[in-house]
Amino acid sequence: MIYLDNNATTCPLPEAVKAMQAVLVDDYGNPSSVHGAGERARRHVESARAEVAALLGARPTEIVFTSGATESTNAALRGAIAAARTNTCRIVTTAVEHEATIEVCRHLREQGVRVEIVPVLEDGRLNLGAYERALAEPTTLVSFMAANNETGVFFPLEAMVAKAKAAGAQVHVDAVQIVGKLPIDVEALGVDFVSLSGHKFYAPKGVGALYVRRGARFKPLLFGAPHEGGRRAGTENVPGIVGLGVAARHVRQGIDARRARLGALSARIEARLLALPGTRLNGAKDGRVPGVANLSFRDIEGSAIVITVARDGVCISAGSACSAAQFGGSHVLEAMGVPFEYLHGAIRVSCAESTTEAEVDAACDRIEAAVRYLRSMIPGAPSPRS
Ligand code: PLP
Repeated sequence: MIYLDNNATTCPLPEAVKAMQAVLVDDYGNPSSVHGAGERARRHVESARAEVAALLGARPTEIVFTSGATESTNAALRGAIAAARTNTCRIVTTAVEHEATIEVCRHLREQGVRVEIVPVLEDGRLNLGAYERALAEPTTLVSFMAANNETGVFFPLEAMVAKAKAAGAQVHVDAVQIVGKLPIDVEALGVDFVSLSGHKFYAPKGVGALYVRRGARFKPLLFGAPHEGGRRAGTENVPGIVGLGVAARHVRQGIDARRARLGALSARIEARLLALPGTRLNGAKDGRVPGVANLSFRDIEGSAIVITVARDGVCISAGSACSAAQFGGSHVLEAMGVPFEYLHGAIRVSCAESTTEAEVDAACDRIEAAVRYLRSMIPGAPSPRS
């Protein structure tokens, strides 16, 4: 198998799995218990919290463990709106967010919250003028992603947070796709909420974190016992949290080297596949997180390429895992105005720090062969030799 779908999920680090196994087998106490077993579990949770805090430049008390970024985003958006001291709430977000944000905004709109959606440019970058205009009206919360999960295009984080704060809004950043690839410093940014997902950076699935700035206006999503400083009820997922802590420590180190390595891999994929006629790169040439390439092949279906190469053990995706499962088009590529003949022909190839050049080359061989094969079946499509 050649696994190049790392924006969907990554393989957990062996050392994370080992640490989790030790907790499952030996230190299985409830971290709220006062006895020794509880104390040991509590120490594991708190040392993981310190690692996640260090990754973000936050204080440990500002980290709330969750089941993943979907829960973190639900908690941030719904929690900030529930805590707002006004009946006329307004959210500003963008047209290319993950479903975790889109669907919460849809729900909040049904509850009477006004939602303003800022468009993006053709290369996926933010329409900054439209963003500034959106902030001209009183805004309760601004929520946007640091980098897009389908194209890797990143937004101007510092400028966006600064403008939102100047407009008096609280700010939530979905940082899922930049962890370990770009540095984050919540103190310097002045952001209120940040969502993270463990399984996108070599931790297991079902665990994530929400950064809640001290003093942020926030009400919890889940009510129950006062876990996580009263911000998220429910007995902690200690093994998952331990895995998250190990992965956080790992990705905090060597960001520059990882970025350079991943960047070289995605550049290699693009150079190979863009040489095929009728191929386009979706997303800004510069200003993307390294390691992901989103390419469209004219007149053929991205999902057909994905299925064809899967028979040879190559794992890639057509857009995000979530939208691929629904077999719908990509709202991200639509928002970018990708021309119709390319819209359904997109594939996303995303690398991990362990991906090798040999794997990338072998995957590109299979993708090229699949494109030629699929095109050979369409009357009137460009000839593979043209
Ligand atoms: N936000 C982004 C940008 C994502 O890519 C994902 C996962 O695909 C999520 C949020 C949701 O994360 P989780 O799977 O932890 O719920």
